[in-house]
Amino acid sequence: MEQKQQLQQEPLLNAMIKFVQSYMDAQSDIKSNKIMQTASDETIAELRLCGIPRKGRAVEAVMDEMVEDVYANQVIMQHPRWFGFVPSPASLLSWLGDIMTSAYDPHAGSWMQSSAAACIEQEVIAWKCRQAGYPDTSGGLFVSGGSMANLTALTAARNAKLSEFQYPLGTAYVSEQTHSSVSKGLRIIGLRTDQIRKIPTDSDFRINITLLKDAVSEDLAAGKIPFAVIANAGSTNTGSIDPFNEITALCEKHHIWMHVDGAYGASVLASSKYRHRLQGIERADSISWDAHKWLLQTYSCSAILVKDKKTLTDSFHTCPEYLKDAAANDEQVNYWDYGPELTRPARSLKLWLTLQVLGTDTISDIIEHGFQLAQWAEDEIRKHPRWEVICPAQQAIVNFRYAPPGLSEIEIDALNQQISKEMLQDGYAGVLTTELNGRKVLRICALHPEANETDMRTTVQLLDKIACKLTIELERERNAS
Ligand SMILES: *Cc1c(COP(=O)(O)O)cnc(C)c1O
Repeated sequence: MEQKQQLQQEPLLNAMIKFVQSYMDAQSDIKSNKIMQTASDETIAELRLCGIPRKGRAVEAVMDEMVEDVYANQVIMQHPRWFGFVPSPASLLSWLGDIMTSAYDPHAGSWMQSSAAACIEQEVIAWKCRQAGYPDTSGGLFVSGGSMANLTALTAARNAKLSEFQYPLGTAYVSEQTHSSVSKGLRIIGLRTDQIRKIPTDSDFRINITLLKDAVSEDLAAGKIPFAVIANAGSTNTGSIDPFNEITALCEKHHIWMHVDGAYGASVLASSKYRHRLQGIERADSISWDAHKWLLQTYSCSAILVKDKKTLTDSFHTCPEYLKDAAANDEQVNYWDYGPELTRPARSLKLWLTLQVLGTDTISDIIEHGFQLAQWAEDEIRKHPRWEVICPAQQAIVNFRYAPPGLSEIEIDALNQQISKEMLQDGYAGVLTTELNGRKVLRICALHPEANETDMRTTVQLLDKIACKLTIELERERNAS
């Protein structure tokens, strides 16, 4: 058996080198790719037919199949012109950090198992906490994504503010623009839907603070226990930022936990030019901050920060007999006591590598570039008649819609949906839709450091071309009927 493994080392090494070479070649020309490709029916049938074999196959053959059939068929979320959802402009540095980390595969649960990786996680978390303006008592940990970061924070919030007997009375407050993962998290930790209050937003898609105050007063009067308000630092639809200072004033008055969902938007803290927009975030009890969005990381890489790290250990610390050998002292940390995971990858290392190599000045420039990209798009939209800006560029997002005269709102909704569809089919850029004020709109979220002014203007021009073509078709159909 041993000899067989020895013999296999060399073909494996060759296959790895070949893979890295071809991957790097493909990356150098990423813009020439269409933004997405979907597996054909034949490919799906082949993959299903392949099954799990009894006898193994040559590694190179399997790798080639995977490159061709699996990895080729995806939305390229790191394509410079992918503007749908929140893109992931993953840096090659993050990828390098990822393969290094998975090669050595440190167990990042305890200090004993990976002391220096735990130290780096502390340092990266401390850097993020400093960006947020948090005190020395703060801390946090890396989790898989914003959804898990929100869930982790909400668990800490519930445990800090409610006794177990009070769980049925607790109420949490989100806005109409809060990401769905927050309500999902609240449901996971046991809240009924009637314990989750959804507060309308104002014309700028920020939580309506008067209605929030009213809801809290109403619930207090009814004997309920308001325990958490969730604020947006960059909502997913529009990039809107809730009024932190007014929310914290309310929360402090009523001993409510304030959580800020900054999954994509907290990265604005790393920009020296725009960080002031998140002023007041330092008063929040917890902050979610994804690194696999605007901080250039591959999946999965997100952080949850808390102002008082004891709130995490209060919620997640366990000390079973089989883990006692890994006890940590005061300066050390066992991250399995900070969050829901026991065995966990060292997610901070790839971000550490990226930050070390690029430096924070470059990160700051990259964040500011995202703001600029959305502004270029908005500028181009305003040049074209029959287009409306629904929510102006902010935090790298702009919402807009094609609204030619003479069409009903329903027809305009359908038209914008079709524009997005045809843009995807064209493959030049990925522009998806969302809904604002009950109407379908197009949305661009642009974070990629390698996207430029031409990319943004050409994308809008192409959308206009598609829109004009569809309108002519529509008119023809009308005249024919
Ligand atoms: C992306 C996003 C999330 C979800 O984060 P995942 O990393 O996809 O789990 C939550 N909230 C906001 C505001 C987001 O933009």
